[in-house]
Amino acid sequence: MEGEARERDDVTHLRRQLGASILALLLCAVCSLLAAPMVFAAPAARVSDIRAWTNEIYTRVAIDTRDEVSWQANSVRADPARGLPPRIFIDIRGAGIRDDILRKPVEVRNGLLRQVRAGRFDHDTVRVVIDLERESDYHVFAMPNPFRIIVDIDGEGEIPVPPPPPAVAALDPAGPPGSASVDPPGAEASIPSPTRKHRVRVMIDPGHGGKDPGATGPTGLKEKDVVLEIGRLVREKLSRFGEYDVRMTRDEDVFIPLEERTAMANGARADLFVSLHINASRDRRAEGYSTYVLSRGASNREDLELAARENGVPLHKLQGVKFIIDDMFTGARKNESLRLAKTVNSAVVRRVSARYPGTQSLGLKQAPFYVLVGARMTAVLVEASFISNAREESRLRDPALLEGIADGVVEAVRYYGQNGILADSGH
Ligand SMILES: [Zn+2]
Repeated sequence: MEGEARERDDVTHLRRQLGASILALLLCAVCSLLAAPMVFAAPAARVSDIRAWTNEIYTRVAIDTRDEVSWQANSVRADPARGLPPRIFIDIRGAGIRDDILRKPVEVRNGLLRQVRAGRFDHDTVRVVIDLERESDYHVFAMPNPFRIIVDIDGEGEIPVPPPPPAVAALDPAGPPGSASVDPPGAEASIPSPTRKHRVRVMIDPGHGGKDPGATGPTGLKEKDVVLEIGRLVREKLSRFGEYDVRMTRDEDVFIPLEERTAMANGARADLFVSLHINASRDRRAEGYSTYVLSRGASNREDLELAARENGVPLHKLQGVKFIIDDMFTGARKNESLRLAKTVNSAVVRRVSARYPGTQSLGLKQAPFYVLVGARMTAVLVEASFISNAREESRLRDPALLEGIADGVVEAVRYYGQNGILADSGH
């Protein structure tokens, strides 16, 4: 990394980088206000893993540091004279790095990403360098608890057609089994329909799993089990119609980090992303169904608390990604998501009401859910009733209710697909 340490020339902030830069500056300002020794005297944080999911149009890199660190992202253009590609680099202050990561660059060479490498830039700074194959837009943001820096690289628009089947490469050189090393279930090449018509690709995301049970009901029913059951039903029902290629972020009781779920959907080039959850509240009387889209804030405290819980972070840590949300989730993608969310919620409530009259609809809502941040497709998050409500928990044990929820999701996806919204989505 000595070579990289001397690379101080022609550092340019890319246009899209502005949000992250502001955030980094704010973080630095906070550091100095709080007296630097507090942050830097105890370098407990260290780069413990670098994970990546990539294909030739999209890459997400996650840098794990466990504890919160101060960081800054920059990029440099290619330097043909020195044989250097365009690079993005993330400087992490006051952190160490695990030795084997230091020695082992992650090679990719897939047309978008060349490799990811890391080293000590100076005594106080670890630098992670992402060597690109070509200039690309990118976003950098951090998620807390455990702290990780996420780099989303968008290579769209310069791809020779037709693209090869989706390949989500796990680049986890020494990560724990079951983290990034798992190919997304259903990521194998899809079988093209006889007419070669574009099949609508739907990524179903049953929330939580493994060590993360999600919310638990008064008699012990776990959110992670209920949403997996609903997810399997949605896949089964939707797959009966030939025009859908349905995949799941998980099809078993495993833990998958939130950023990996989004990366799976992006890497598979899904048209739709539907994250499935069951709500919970301290108010045991709270009940009803709601469907969310991503936004930087929420209209009330309950929704913010819900997002914090689903994100696995304390409420006061929720704000870290708000610049990025404004920058990445706009225009058609947001409008389509709002539309799908509304359709999903009314279809689910109608189906469930057939069995349980009087079921409440809480309607379309917005909140900062991390699992939706950076999703490149129409993306919604369903909160199908309250597991904390004794009556709704007992209903969630009724297989017919789960069928009803799944039928509602399927109906909404089909309605959405048949109304031409997906026809223009490309690929
Ligand atoms: Zn949940």
